[in-house]
Amino acid sequence: MSFTLAIVGRPNVGKSTLFNRLVGRKLALVDDQPGVTRDLREGQARLGPLKFTVIDSAGLEEATDDSLQGRMRRLTERAVEQADVCLFVIDARQGVTATDEVFADILRKKNAHVIVAANKAEGRAGEGGYLEAFSLGLGEPIRLSAEHGEGMEDLLSALLPIV
Ligand code: GDP
Ligand code: MG
Repeated sequence: MSFTLAIVGRPNVGKSTLFNRLVGRKLALVDDQPGVTRDLREGQARLGPLKFTVIDSAGLEEATDDSLQGRMRRLTERAVEQADVCLFVIDARQGVTATDEVFADILRKKNAHVIVAANKAEGRAGEGGYLEAFSLGLGEPIRLSAEHGEGMEDLLSALLPIV
């Protein structure tokens, strides 16, 4: 069965890095600087036996007159509506932030299928943030390192019962 996975979360948590790893091509731009990617971009992903469409949500980095909160809500809602499953990414090194809580609320209200991923979890620096991710109340989080390709089996295990 084919399905669509949307990667959502605040800027700089590693969404595009994960998108690129899943798609295997540099379709989404990754940068230390905010303002590099915009809106929703789509690619075809492979993970173990699964083939699916993945959406990278960006565009929150753009400075506009519009409030960040409003754009976050609209973009996330749009991604959720196009997706069967949402991968909600937080930065394990920073832990759960107030902005992450806003995303969690949106996802809860939308009643979306959510997998919480604590990214940047390579090494020990992410352990506290990973544990904090349980408090989002969106199920058991997984540890990922998009940059190092760690945790992809756990992502597969989390997807298999849903799709
Ligand atoms: P996005 O704004 O959520 O799309 O985040 P990006 O994919 O553009 O990544 C933001 C920054 O985090 C970049 O400097 C990435 O190299 C870095 N990054 C992404 N994934 C990881 C990871 O697993 N570990 C570490 N340490 N850094 C990462
Ligand atoms: Mg990005």
